[in-house]
Amino acid sequence: MNLNRKITALFSAVAVGILVMLVAISLYAFRSYSIASSTAHVRTAAEMVRVHLTEAMIHGVIDKREQFLDRLMEVQGLRAARVLRSTHVNEQFGAGMAREMEPDEVEKQVLADGHARYLLENELGDAVFRGTIPFAASARGRPNCLQCHRVSEGTVLGAVTIELSLQELKRSALFTVAVIIVTVALFSLLAIFAVRRLIMPVGDTAQAVERAVQRALRGDFKGRVEKRTDDEIGKIATETNSLLGFLDEGLSRITQRVTQLTGRTPQHDENQLEATIDMVNSLADAAGFKQAIEEDESKTEIYDRFSGVLLERFDVREFSIYEAEGSKQLQPIAVDGVQGAPCRWCDPQILVRSDMCRARRTGHAVNGLIEPGICYAFHPPAEGGARRHYCVPIIQSGTVGSVIQLVVAEERAPALVEQAPYIHVYLREMAPVLEAKRLTETLRDSSLRDAMTGLNNRRFLEEYMDTLVASARRRRIPLAVLVLDLDYFKVVNDSYGHDAGDAVLKALAGVLKRTVRASDMVIRFGGEEFLIVLQEADAEAALKVAENIRSAVEQMRVQVAGAVLQKTISIGLSMFPDDSDTFWQAIKFADVALYRAKENGRNQVVRFTPDMWSGQGESY
Ligand code: GH3
Ligand code: MG
Ligand code: MG
Repeated sequence: MNLNRKITALFSAVAVGILVMLVAISLYAFRSYSIASSTAHVRTAAEMVRVHLTEAMIHGVIDKREQFLDRLMEVQGLRAARVLRSTHVNEQFGAGMAREMEPDEVEKQVLADGHARYLLENELGDAVFRGTIPFAASARGRPNCLQCHRVSEGTVLGAVTIELSLQELKRSALFTVAVIIVTVALFSLLAIFAVRRLIMPVGDTAQAVERAVQRALRGDFKGRVEKRTDDEIGKIATETNSLLGFLDEGLSRITQRVTQLTGRTPQHDENQLEATIDMVNSLADAAGFKQAIEEDESKTEIYDRFSGVLLERFDVREFSIYEAEGSKQLQPIAVDGVQGAPCRWCDPQILVRSDMCRARRTGHAVNGLIEPGICYAFHPPAEGGARRHYCVPIIQSGTVGSVIQLVVAEERAPALVEQAPYIHVYLREMAPVLEAKRLTETLRDSSLRDAMTGLNNRRFLEEYMDTLVASARRRRIPLAVLVLDLDYFKVVNDSYGHDAGDAVLKALAGVLKRTVRASDMVIRFGGEEFLIVLQEADAEAALKVAENIRSAVEQMRVQVAGAVLQKTISIGLSMFPDDSDTFWQAIKFADVALYRAKENGRNQVVRFTPDMWSGQGESY
């Protein structure tokens, strides 16, 4: 119930209460007044009848009393007047008129006990007041009753019954009550009207404020409150409007900015405030994500972190991250959060013919959520139900550097459509960082790699040696160090030219790479000297590997201009930490062993023994 109705109801209840009270009091007062005044009238009339009868008796015209009583009936408001004789009078003077001789029950009582009796009764809708007054014999009055009546003092001689019609009195009483009712009702109506006029703006303003607040809670601050008065209520309306205006403008500006940043436009029926908060939160999360990936060491870590975001923030469990390699290839980096997992959601052909990937080819997002079948390369496995995909290219240095593919069950597609702008925010933050990391990795790679052979160089060894040694110590595995040097290499240069020498070095690098495991490290140490670090190989195994290398080199044939070259290689081997305390010392000892191999006639493997080392005191 609103304020206006409450006030009206309250006032109406009070008015009705007052009215009922006034009517009750008035009716009661009228009744009391009517009884009192009728009693007095009845007494007076009875007294007058008694006086008249006494006078008639004195003057000897008592037999004319009937006419008197009949005439009396003509008095307005008098309904009946009757005289009753007591048995004492009858006994002394004989029976009276017939109507004096038939007292009713009340009159009998009055004649018997001498007490007046009054009655208010309704007869056929007419209110009648009836009083029966006794006449008692008294010697004190004039005339002295006892002079004629042979009775004692106080004996009841008769009674007079007077009946008065109260109809007129009742009518005027009801009229007065009606006037009171009308007056009070009019006054109440006026009061209610006046109060409503006063209260109306309060109630209306309160309702308008409530409506505006309700709208604001739904994120719509466009509601306004009409100013109806110039008092405090008007001020509430004005202040509410300026607050709403301020909030509306602020929210609009924030929404506009975050809409630009997120690329997501809230729907009209959406709670604008909640949508904006959502967008701001996403931007804040994405900013935190960017800060984290900027501090990540490698692209792999970045992709890993992004996988985490897809899984945890967006609940996308099926996805692929591809990285472009060269102009034709795509490399799956992470599939469903697993690094290095094989391509699962697309035709594997895209890995070697990257143009088959629509996102890679066009550089645009491919929205299979609302356009299923848009990309022919999308091949989800048959099991697990129908799927939709959404593929977004990440542009790096003007070309598609990576492709992010999100896969969801068909029923989740609408939810992902809503989330897509937020995912784009992350991708937008990720793109420049990925590009920077890619450049750094390329630069770093080139500074750690020998351009001619593609092998890691000495700087690489210097950088990674600490990690390598720490890992070996932790895992308690030995490292075997091989130092290799081509035999009589100078001759190649001298006889066939520098290019022929280069060709031999490249061929040798290939042989070395193929002969060891992927986890082993092949380094071009300088010139035609190479270094190989074998992990998890004891001296015996290492000797075997070295021997394999030696023999592979021996069988290597290099075609150069006008000749096929065949070379041999000498290899020195030392074990870390068996032979030495430091890794550098192990390299030195392998070099010492190599020197011994050269001395012993080349094309052989020599394992370092302490007796070969005479350089005690030198430190490495
Ligand atoms: P030894 O059996 O004692 O090792 O005899 P060698 O002729 O191989 O002697 P050494 O190892 O001292 O020779 C190194 C030669 O390798 C010197 C240099 O001309 C040549 N060399 C070093 N780097 C390169 C390169 O990048 N390309 C070419 N073509 N030759 C190189
Ligand atoms: Mg050499
Ligand atoms: Mg040499």
